[in-house]
Amino acid sequence: MNATWKPTKNQQTKQRRKRRFFLIVATLFVVGWVGYYIYSPPPPETVTVVKPTVFEKPTERLKHDAVLSASLPVRGQTSKHVLQRTIASGDNLSAIFAGVEISQTVMLQIVAADESLLALDILRPGNTLTFTLDEETRQLTKMELFIDPAHQVIYQRIDDRNFEYREIILPGTWKYQLLDSDIDGSFYQSAIFSGLSDREVGNITYLFKNKVNFNRDIRAGDRFQVVRNLQLIDGKLTGQSHIEAVRIFSRKHHYSAFLFEDGNYYDEKGKSLARAFQRYPFKGRYRITSPFNLARRHPITKRISPHKGVDFGMSVGTPIYSTGDGVVTRVKNHPYAGKYIEIQHEGRYLTRYMHLSRITVKRGEKVKRGERIALSGNTGRSTGPHLHYEIHIKGRAVNPITAKIPLAVSVPKGKFKAFKQRVAELELLLEKSQFDLIGS
Ligand SMILES: [Zn+2]
Repeated sequence: MNATWKPTKNQQTKQRRKRRFFLIVATLFVVGWVGYYIYSPPPPETVTVVKPTVFEKPTERLKHDAVLSASLPVRGQTSKHVLQRTIASGDNLSAIFAGVEISQTVMLQIVAADESLLALDILRPGNTLTFTLDEETRQLTKMELFIDPAHQVIYQRIDDRNFEYREIILPGTWKYQLLDSDIDGSFYQSAIFSGLSDREVGNITYLFKNKVNFNRDIRAGDRFQVVRNLQLIDGKLTGQSHIEAVRIFSRKHHYSAFLFEDGNYYDEKGKSLARAFQRYPFKGRYRITSPFNLARRHPITKRISPHKGVDFGMSVGTPIYSTGDGVVTRVKNHPYAGKYIEIQHEGRYLTRYMHLSRITVKRGEKVKRGERIALSGNTGRSTGPHLHYEIHIKGRAVNPITAKIPLAVSVPKGKFKAFKQRVAELELLLEKSQFDLIGS
């Protein structure tokens, strides 16, 4: 017979029971597992959970040739306990710390100390990092960031888990330099050829953007003059410079710009070339939850830690606007400052916006005063949803609520005499024939 086998009734019941038993066990297992997942306490927060995404460059570059070679430029004492790294393009902090075999935990302790300065977020080729280790424990005791001969930052260990920074800014001596050139080809090419940097040429064209169309109005045979002020330490240029005066002579018009003591550029009549700022980077009013205070105790670590901006309490997602025209110089995600933006404005102004939830501009992008750049948030080390807003004038953080920012369009009346005097001094320099590095 070819009949197919059929289970008896008894066998069927047994199988059903078996299946039911298995189903119950599996259900209990799944329910228990999900429950554990939902109700188990989150792991304790430690600094090591922070992803090192802040450092956006590739990590592969740095080699393990850690110990300082004698040929490197050496500042201060060096030994096998002192390691030095010169930053090359593409380097990032994570890879450099790995290269000198210092843990990412220690790196994050230093990044925490750097929260209010953010000097380590921008490492430029040629900067150096010097690591000093304890001779016995090999623990990092000090790290020095050498930016230029006039600017260094020292991160010093203060206990097992914390570092403190000290910024060294030397005034140096400043010398004037005159660049005077006929235009041959484009303004850009001629300006670069005369010795101006890319950034400086960009600043000049931006300064005159409402007055001069550099493609149409400027031609071969026109002329420009620039008085630049350069910083020196021990007779060597530090790389720090700023433009004091510009004159452009085209066939039809003369254009000029003079830097005044308030950090703004004006034409010879005292009319501002920079567009005015707005005081606040948002619409409406928000409560100040933490004021600008250079001697503040940090709300979380309780240590003295300067608060270089103002905190405004606001719900996550509040639109944030640039307070002035400028160029976005940083779009970063910092473990403590959170998602943040830095904007370089004409004149000598810089603004920063921190703890954002969403950033809607890119690095290098030009923005206008009042342009939306981000949504506020609660990212980084933050005690609640707020915006941290900073203004820097000539490299120093100032109180955004009281800072003298250009809200007006011309030199204030009471300052006009001083402005005229400054213009006369600069014009005297411009009238000189070629000169280089004369006292200022
Ligand atoms: Zn703040």
